[in-house]
This record gives sequence, structure tokens and C-alpha cells, in this order.
Amino acid sequence: MKKTVLVIDDSDTLREEILRSLRGVSLFDTYLEAGDGLDGFKVLLNNRVDLVLCDLEMPRMDGFRFLTMMRAREEFQDLPVIILTGREDRDTKIRGLEQGASDFVTKPFDTGELVARVRVQLKMKGLQDELKRSNEMLRTLSITDPLTHLHNRRHLMEMVDKEFQRSSRKGAPLSLVILDIDYFKKINDTYGHQEGDRVLTILADIVRRRLRSYDLAARYGGEEFVLLLPETPVQEALSIAERLRLEVQEHVFEGSLGGLVITISLGVATYPSSRVESIDSLFRQADEALYRAKQGGRNRVELMAGASIEKGVP
Ligand code: GH3
Ligand code: MG
Ligand code: MG
Ligand code: MG
Repeated sequence: MKKTVLVIDDSDTLREEILRSLRGVSLFDTYLEAGDGLDGFKVLLNNRVDLVLCDLEMPRMDGFRFLTMMRAREEFQDLPVIILTGREDRDTKIRGLEQGASDFVTKPFDTGELVARVRVQLKMKGLQDELKRSNEMLRTLSITDPLTHLHNRRHLMEMVDKEFQRSSRKGAPLSLVILDIDYFKKINDTYGHQEGDRVLTILADIVRRRLRSYDLAARYGGEEFVLLLPETPVQEALSIAERLRLEVQEHVFEGSLGGLVITISLGVATYPSSRVESIDSLFRQADEALYRAKQGGRNRVELMAGASIEKGVP
């Protein structure tokens, strides 16, 4: 991978010397330089830099101020900075470390030591990046349903909690839709469990396409899904549910599932409303509506009890 180093020092001779040492070991592909902290900071803002070597005493902006300024920005938190210091000064080093220096090299520097310290910093940065990536991956895995790649139930419950609180604070409506595939057992029986799984992933894709950026879709159980719709009054939730019902019904399956038509039943509930004053009752009302949709013949949307479709007022 291409790497870039930035050398900041007010002495042209020293910059040259450092760059020559670094070029000798080909750790980097791009070499940038600046004569003081301010110019160095500008270079940093305009380039993707992997490591900085920075002098302490410089005109306009010294190394300490440079460090403070860059560490204040989120994007430079992990950027390794090796400080070049003129003296073996304990207090200077302590102050530098406190302000975010990664390491020190004392001038006049020894090429071997400089290169070794640079290597260590690059390696640590690489390991840190790797750790960050795998943490992000673990986090994604922990909130994702492995089959459909929708959110899993645990994450849904976390988000319902958050959105419910937010809705209570702001007085904005929060809607919940529970949907369940009709006669899914029969699909499994006819096409086999594996093809049944494929139906679930296809349904998840249809659901995902229907979502607005602030909505959340989760796999709630085997063939049951939940949509969490913030800032959505009951009437709007109803029309989202209705559109989704039609899209599912009209989906044309291909390959071994060719000719299959699936339908879903949906239950809609909205907070706040006369019968919904808690997360429990939000789920209960949506679930009861879903039950009525099933009882009423399936392939339909039902609203929570007491909600008026005409007026759209819960
Ligand atoms: P209804 O219209 O009343 O919802 O009928 P249904 O057959 O869909 O409902 P039921 O609850 O009786 O059956 C659900 C089926 O879903 C039973 C179970 O084997 C199947 N199922 C649950 N999870 C999975 C899964 O991950 N993959 C597959 N292929 N099938 C699953
Ligand atoms: Mg200097
Ligand atoms: Mg079910
Ligand atoms: Mg079902």
C-alpha cells in the first residue's frame, strides 16, 4: 500500500537529511515537507499522510502547537507523529507526550535509529487500523441477521428503546409494523428449506428498498420482520405497509422459485395513541393487528385497534 510521510522542520538541511535517510529504505512512496507547523498543518489537511516527523522549535507555529492543533481533530487522532528534539530534555519530552507525540528522535539524529523508530510507528499504526477494522466488523456482525443481513432482534430492541424515548421527548409519532409471510410452511414444504431461506433473503431485499434512510428493518423471528418508522404518523405507516404488501405480492421470482407468488400480512401500531403508552403496548397492538390480518384472510394490512384509517389519527 502506498504510504506518505510529512517532514516538518525549519532547517532545509535537516529536512533534506531526513528525507534522504527515509528514501534509502523505501518505507514511503510520497515525501512531503513543510518549513513550519502552520504550513505542515496545511499540507496535512490536503493530503493523506501516514506519518509525521516534526521539529519542535520553528517560527510561526512550533511543534507543540502543531501537535495540539492536529490532535484536536478527529481525523488525526491516530496519526503517528515523531518529534525531532534538539536536546535530551526530559521536560520537553513529557510535555510532547502529553500533547500527543508518538515518539522522539534527538538531533543530531542517527539514521539507523530514525528509521527504526519510523518502522515501529508504522507497524503500530497498521496493527491499530487492523484492530479497528475487526472491531467494526464484529460490531456489524453483532447487530446483523446472518441470513438476510437486516438488523437482528437484539439491535431492533435497542433502537426501539432509543426511538421510543426520542419520540416521547419530542412528541413525534413513532410507528411499528410487524409483518409475517403467509403460509410460509407450505413454501418450505414445496421448495425445501434452502429455497425457503432464499425467499427470506429476497423478501428482505424488497423491504430494504422500501426503507427511508431513518427507518430500520429487522428480522424479528423466523419469517417475521419488523419495521421501525420514526417520525411517522399512523396514516403514513399504513401506506408504507400497503405499498410493501403490493410489492411483495407482485414480485416475480426466478430460477427454481419461478412461478412462486408470496404474500405477507402486516400489523401497524403508532405511539403515542390512546392504547399505546409503552414499548410493550406498541408491540402488542402491532401484533394483535397482524393477528387480525391473518384472521381476516391474510395478504392484508391491519391497524391497531381504535385507530381511524380515514382520519389517520390514532
Ligand atoms: P401463517 O400464514 O399463519 O403465517 O402460516 P405460516 O406457515 O407462515 O406460519 P407458521 O408459523 O405455521 O410457520 C412458519 C414457518 O417458518 C415454520 C418454520 O419452519 C419456518 N421457518 C422459520 N424460520 C425459518 C428459516 O430461517 N428458514 C426457513 N426456510 N424456514 C423457516
Ligand atoms: Mg527548528
Ligand atoms: Mg410466523
Ligand atoms: Mg407466516
